[in-house]
Order: sequence, then C-alpha cells, then structure tokens
Amino acid sequence: MNGQVEEYSVVVVGAGMGGIYALHRFAELGHSVHGFEGAPGVGGVWYHNAYPGARVDLESDSYSYMFDEELYTGWDWSERYAAQPEILRYLNYVADRLDVRRNLSLSTRVTSAQWNPEENRYLIKTDTGRTVRARYLVMATGNLSRPKDPDFKGLGDFEGEWYQTSHWPQTPVDYAGKRVAVIGTGSSGVQAATEIAKTAGHLYVMQRTPHYVVPAHNRPADPVKKERLSRKVLEFRDESYATPVGYVLPPPVGRGVDYSPEQRLQILETRWAFGGQCLLSTFTDQGTNIEINDVVSQFVRSKVAQQVDDPQTVAKLMPTSYPLGTRRLVIDTGYYPIFNQDNVSLVDMRDNPIERITATGIKTREAEYEVDVIVFALGFEAFTGALDQANVRNEHGQQPSDRWAYKPQTYLGLMSNAFPNLFTLTGIQSPSVLANFFTLNNYHVDLVDKIIGYAEEARAERVEPTLDAEKKWGDHCNEIAEPMLRRAVDNYMVHVNRYDGSRFFLPYAGGFDRYVADVDEYLGEKYEGFEFTS
Ligand code: NAP
Repeated sequence: MNGQVEEYSVVVVGAGMGGIYALHRFAELGHSVHGFEGAPGVGGVWYHNAYPGARVDLESDSYSYMFDEELYTGWDWSERYAAQPEILRYLNYVADRLDVRRNLSLSTRVTSAQWNPEENRYLIKTDTGRTVRARYLVMATGNLSRPKDPDFKGLGDFEGEWYQTSHWPQTPVDYAGKRVAVIGTGSSGVQAATEIAKTAGHLYVMQRTPHYVVPAHNRPADPVKKERLSRKVLEFRDESYATPVGYVLPPPVGRGVDYSPEQRLQILETRWAFGGQCLLSTFTDQGTNIEINDVVSQFVRSKVAQQVDDPQTVAKLMPTSYPLGTRRLVIDTGYYPIFNQDNVSLVDMRDNPIERITATGIKTREAEYEVDVIVFALGFEAFTGALDQANVRNEHGQQPSDRWAYKPQTYLGLMSNAFPNLFTLTGIQSPSVLANFFTLNNYHVDLVDKIIGYAEEARAERVEPTLDAEKKWGDHCNEIAEPMLRRAVDNYMVHVNRYDGSRFFLPYAGGFDRYVADVDEYLGEKYEGFEFTS
C-alpha cells in the first residue's frame, strides 16, 4: 500500500486497553476504522512492561472489559491481582474474540499526524511508509507509556546488561545468581525488586524517595465472586461508573474527625487486612485534612517497622516527606520483607545520588556498587510523552503539549481547542491515572462515539471545543483540586509552570462518579461547549 493514501473515517493510535475497545466499537458502528500499533503485539503497556513481578494493582474482576457479558464470562482470571503475562493473554483473547486485528497494523508507529483544515482531515504517516487520511484521530496512546529514559553519565561505558522495566525484553532475562541494581522504587521498581530478590546473587534497591507501600493480599481468584458478577456484568459496569475510582472498593467510612483515635486504628487495620487501594479512601477527609492524613500515613509507616528487622533500613524506607496518597500508593506482594534477606541491600540516594555509571557498576557520591545487571524503573514521560512521540500537529504547527505548556487545558479531558477532531482517551483533566483504565476507556470511547454521532447528524465535518468551554472546564478541575493535599506535592501528576511556578493537578480529581455527572451536565442535550462546523 506504500505510495497510496488510504482513507478512513477513524484512525486509532495504540492497541492497548483503549485502542482495542475503540477498534471494536467503531467497526461495530459501521465506521471505516484502522489502528496503528508500534509493538508487534497488542496490549500496550501490558505488552512492554514484561518485567519480573509486574502485576496489576486493582482486582482482576474489575480490571476487565465489562461491556459484553459473553466476553466477560469467557475469561477466568486465576488470581485476585493478575500478573502481566496473564493480562497480556487476556488482551489477546479479547482482540481475537472481537476480531480487531483485521483493522490493525502492528509493528507500525505513527510518525506524524497533521491536520489539514482545507480537507478537514488528518494526514497520518507511519514509519513503514504508509500515508493515511482520517477524519477523526483517536489517541489511545496512554498516559504512562513513553518511558523516562536513563540519562546517567557513563551508561555507555557499562559492560554489564541494563534494562528498563517499561520496555522489558520479550525473551527471558537471566539474573539468577547475579549482582543486580534496581534504580527507582515506584510501583514498577517495588514489584521488580520483590521478584528479583528471590534469585539474585545480590540485589541493590536504589531508592531516592520512599513510597507508601501497602499489601495486595494476592490469592487465587474467587470463582464464586466471578460467577456472581458475570451474571450481571453491565450492572457491575454501571456500579463501577458510580464509584470514585471506576471500580468497586469498600466505600469510605466517613470523616476521620468523627472517630476516636482507637476507632480509626481499628478501621485502618480492617482495611489493611482487606488489602489494595482501599486504604487510600478510608476516610473522606484524608485527602484534605492533614491531621487525618497523618493518622493514615503514620499507620502505614508503623507497618514498615513490623516487617523489617534492621532499624536503620526501616528509617530509610519510611516515607516522611509527603502525606500518603499525594503520590501513587504502591501495592505490593512481599516487598518490605526482602530487606531481611542477606542478599538484599537498600541504597538511599537522597543524600547519596548517583554520580555516574562505570564499566563495572554504579558510582554514587559515597560508594561504588559493582553489578552485572542494572534495571531502570524510572517512570514515564507522563501524559504528553506518547502524544509528542506521535507528532500530532494542528494547522498552526502546534502539538497539544505546546498548547498546554503554560496551563494544561482540555474540554472534558478528551478534546482541546485548536485541535479539531482529535480525541485523547483518558487524557489530562479526565480521571486518567486515578481511575480504572478499563472503565475509563470504555466510557471515553462511548463518549467519542456520541460526539461523532452528533457531528454526523448535524452534517458537520469538524468538531472542536470552544476556548470558553475549555476554560470553564479547566477552572472547574483546578477548583476541585485546590483543597487537596496532593496538589502541593511534586510528582508526575502535578504540572508546574516553568514561567511562574503555578501548579496544576493534571487528572480530574473529583472522582470518576462525579466526572460522569459533570460531563453530562456540561454537555447537556446539545453537546454544549463544542463547535460543529461543515
Ligand atoms: P514512578 O512511580 O514515576 O517511579 C519512578 C521511580 O524512579 C521513583 O522512585 C523515582 O524517584 C525514581 N527516579 C526517577 N528518576 C530518577 C533518577 N534520575 N535518579 C534516581 N531515581 C530516579 O514510575 P513507575 O514505578 O514506573 O510507576 C509509574 C506509574 O505506573 C505508577 O504510578 C502506576 O500508576 C503505574 N504502574 C502501575 C503498576 C501496577 O498496576 N501494579 C505497576 C507499575 C506501574 P523519585 O520518587 O525520587 O522521583
């Protein structure tokens, strides 16, 4: 097909959770649709993040597509929290069952997507030499998909092997018996370290900022629960839409200030025993009231001391510089106890930063660590990394991230002014990284479908939010985030304007349920806030 320009109504970029559903949905609705995926397989982040120990941190029963009863019942999860290989198998099962591959080009990366205002089309080019024209462009490229590459001095001199958790080889990596360093202790680093510690000769866990880590309490999946849910999966999905995070968790118990210290402790113990993310939403005021947050933070800190023997290591592992929940809570399966093993050392990089990588290992300010393997778990170019990589440009030559550099602004977290017919699934100012990506992608793709449907009914070729609508939505998002402790803490969810230091919390912080209600209210019956033109 090289040399020819193919025409589609909808082009979808990325074949992870969002892309797979989008390809299915738009084909089902009769659109000519085509998808491009850079990897040789479907799965998105679950394809690339094949590192040892990779596992989802919310329950598999909810971490599934819930739009089709047969699809849901046709798959049985083996564990309460599925591991990466099983999630990848699941996504392949869905792609096969929905027959999305017929409209998908794998191993094909989009290198540019240029809006042409004369034709009201995107002209899309790929690294395989394809040129495609599309009326609508749906970016299902994810928020945490473009890795933060290691830029340590001397990396080129290293004579051992090095890997990134976010782009782990698809073939087995042999680290058994070897000296390994894991750099970074977010969700990826914690999971990788826990698994690598089982067989490494020696493991150095290199930590800059300790995270709050709470147990998943993983176990075999509960067949009774699956049976119960699968009989009413659409209801289960609606129930998930009506929760703050897009999946059903034990609800908060109310305000922490209304309980005595003893009662609070008892409640926290119950949530700890339940496991997973529910600790994050124990009390309705823990995200805004620092005293209540302190109670929860201190409770989790006390658990470190219960699991790790060496007091100096305990002190280094305890997060003290920020309140719990202001950075992503890490859900573990046996992380803290690895520090009681003789083959594991914690290296605190706060006062002892890495100076360079050498031929034989890692040199910090105070010491040198000889290693055979380095695992970088440094996180992602969050939110805009993958969008920038696809090089989407409007008629003025701008990328979305150029427009958001001063102040991130979208309408409903899905579209931006000056970028007609471009949809960014799970984008900034939507619940994005705070929500279950299966439910949010489901909701967003269905919303895109409704917007396109409305445009077609109005015989419009072009849809774009107005500046006013975008501003109103942006102000609303900022207002919601204003009283929240998490706005004040630096991490990948906070955008700090480099010109004046103003801070913006990037996800919509009001909860999935409120987001759904807000979208309904903002859109009204007539898709207000959008301009539809021919
Ligand atoms: P992350 O949370 O951003 O953590 C990156 C880690 O690398 C941090 O510990 C960071 O230290 C450290 N780091 C970055 N640059 C460094 C440098 N130059 N020198 C030393 N340390 C450096 O990334 P992640 O662990 O990949 O997780 C990202 C997100 O992906 C998570 O929040 C979660 O949403 C998702 N995720 C989910 C799962 C799951 O479902 N179980 C698993 C993995 C990832 P500082 O903290 O000091 O910056």
